[in-house]
Amino acid sequence: MKIGIDLGGHTLVTALVSDSTVGVLPHIVRTISDSTPRGRGVSDVMNVMADAIANLAEGCDVTGVGVAVPGMIDGDRTHVRRMPNFPREWDDLDIPVGLAAALAARSLNIPSKIENDANCYALGEGSAGDAVGIKDFVTFTMGTGIGCGIISGGRLLAGAHGMAGEAGHLVVRGDAPCGCGGMGHAETFAAADGTSRRARELGLPADFGELWMMRGNHGADIVIDATLDAMARAIASTCHLLDPELIIIGGGMSRAEGIGEALHKRTLPYLSRPFKAMFNLKISQLGNDAALYGAASI
Ligand SMILES: [Zn+2]
Repeated sequence: MKIGIDLGGHTLVTALVSDSTVGVLPHIVRTISDSTPRGRGVSDVMNVMADAIANLAEGCDVTGVGVAVPGMIDGDRTHVRRMPNFPREWDDLDIPVGLAAALAARSLNIPSKIENDANCYALGEGSAGDAVGIKDFVTFTMGTGIGCGIISGGRLLAGAHGMAGEAGHLVVRGDAPCGCGGMGHAETFAAADGTSRRARELGLPADFGELWMMRGNHGADIVIDATLDAMARAIASTCHLLDPELIIIGGGMSRAEGIGEALHKRTLPYLSRPFKAMFNLKISQLGNDAALYGAASI
């Protein structure tokens, strides 16, 4: 058995995941969902994670823990570089060492690893989702921001500094500033935050699901069009760069009915001819569980 943890700004989900064997995919046996402690301080979060691990590990043989973290991590996959929505005390922290201490206080000795949450999403789709058996695929999570994970030649693409796969920051149009410090990035238009901002400016609902249901309304169509267009440009550029067999779209915005078909149609004109025929885009079936499966697999 393995344990996968999805550390979010609001919720912290811990899952006990069965081992995969030949022909048998892993499955989530049990999950514990906690609220992320207020203030998101290191010791509070470590204690919540360690309690959940101790609870799930009771009576079964857990061989490893993987934590999906919302931020950039070091090339060595142990240290956090920066988690934007967490206090600065997390910067440069060795999470496996900290978690080992919290577990030791509970008489447990289980090794842990960390990985970026968007990368865990991709790993999860590869271990238990739509990309099982596929060696080249890319996942996008459309939520507050745009997450991306790349599996190329069967391996997670990490890059020289562990930061590869930031396709939400592909430069797709104009020079509007992005929250990351760059400009013209896909995320500014395609993610929920940017979409909500543009919707509010027109007096429309900030919630993407509500906005999506208003299609046909002139204002809603303008806002949605910019969202789909930025996402389509990022997807097309990703296809040209990596030649993936499959693109998987997850995240809260992917639950809007028909968004998969809309993105597929919108992306085609941006693709060069040989890529059009091979283009394959799916909406994630695993949803939020993908990051848990991915974390458990690292
Ligand atoms: Zn950016």
